Amino acid sequence: MEHTIPSSEAHLDGPLFRNARQVLEEAGQIINCDPNVLERLKYPRKSVTVSIPVRMDNYNVKVFTGYRVQYNSTLGPYKGGIRYHQNVDLPEVVGLAALMTFKNSVLGLPLGGAKGGVAVDPSKLSRTEKQNLTRRFTSEISDFIGPTKDIPAPDVGTDPQTMAWMMDTYSQEKGGYFQPGVVTGKPVEIGGSMGRNHATGLGVVYVAEKAFEKNRLSMNGAKIVVQGFGNVGSFAALFAHQRGAKIIAVSDVSGGIFNGDGLNIPELIEYTKQNKTVKGFPKSTDIGNEQLLELACDALFPCALENQIDTHNAERIKAKIIIEGANGPITNTATKILSQRGIFIAPDVVANGGGVIVSYFEWVQDIMSFFWDEDEINGRLKSIITKAFETVYKFHTEKNVDMRLAAMACSVQRLEKAMLLRGLYPR
Ligand code: NAD
Repeated sequence: MEHTIPSSEAHLDGPLFRNARQVLEEAGQIINCDPNVLERLKYPRKSVTVSIPVRMDNYNVKVFTGYRVQYNSTLGPYKGGIRYHQNVDLPEVVGLAALMTFKNSVLGLPLGGAKGGVAVDPSKLSRTEKQNLTRRFTSEISDFIGPTKDIPAPDVGTDPQTMAWMMDTYSQEKGGYFQPGVVTGKPVEIGGSMGRNHATGLGVVYVAEKAFEKNRLSMNGAKIVVQGFGNVGSFAALFAHQRGAKIIAVSDVSGGIFNGDGLNIPELIEYTKQNKTVKGFPKSTDIGNEQLLELACDALFPCALENQIDTHNAERIKAKIIIEGANGPITNTATKILSQRGIFIAPDVVANGGGVIVSYFEWVQDIMSFFWDEDEINGRLKSIITKAFETVYKFHTEKNVDMRLAAMACSVQRLEKAMLLRGLYPR
């Protein structure tokens, strides 16, 4: 049944958030969650909308709209990325902030959930315009964020350079001293962590290895399809390629490419640095994004945006397992269809948790001013993400529910205990 939201709550009325609330309600019933806790978990705590005037290169001023949504801080400071994309709106950011809350909880991190975004196509901005936008946005939300309060990170359309500008703006405005702990995903030269840039993609592959194992498949020689070739998709493809998988197709916003014998991923990464797209890569044929999702393969990694698999294509998906690198790439109804068809889904809140896990390490290192080497980071990442996967897998098999519902149930169990211990203020 489709989850409905009253018109007075239009800011909550997005497909991603409707999906999340529906899974939350179902999970709440399965674990017999306290109804007052469940009611509180259905709402974001605070949503801030700001106007961001930006001096463009032609000297005209253009005003963009930005958001920061702080969903829940029961388990720790708010934490979640900043997205620059033309379709960003408040309901989408609310949905992403809710997912961050449930992700941080199921991963066992001492962090709450938040998300931010600006409605802008960053590919249409010059470097100066992007810096101006980032600095003014940071300034507008600077009273809401902070190293012990709310810690942003990169997401679609933002990168380590964006985080460097955010950190610098915040540090200049709040006393003029170095405050690296205010954002994660920074370059290593200014308090970033080894291994953060590739962490989400590596986490996707650690989870994929577990999912292959549970489904009696091997990554060595497996045929894998990757949708989206940005931060998450390109590193997930690279790490799977290094483990002997054949990446037979990948795509980006302009379309996809295919080679049944497997694409040379290191060469493709170099090619995309020069050409800004995967299209035209030698020894590949063109393929549409829709067609790519429906290819016969062992595993599909959707690593682009939300709502890519819904009722219109769920019946045609031929992958044996799906690892959700992106947030919310499969709708709830499609999840049910795929699960009934025996397709195994490793849900986003676990599968793409590598980014926030290493963001957590970065934040800890910044606070201590003591930095770890990459082996230590990767080892700790593997241990946290595989433990979360095993916990969710156990719930999935014991209660006979799909992996998405199992992940939400495990997440809500932890939040429920903490919320009941903290109680309701004032009461
Ligand atoms: P990115 O901007 O680096 O890359 C996004 C990629 O998707 C690009 O290659 C883009 O061309 C492609 N794309 C966009 N629209 C597409 C479409 N319609 N069809 C096919 N490809 C399309 O972003 P990212 O950081 O890699 O994030 C991707 C997803 O992973 C998002 O859902 C994001 O929320 C999620 N995620 C990212 C991180 C992180 O650490 N970056 C962590 C957890 C989750």
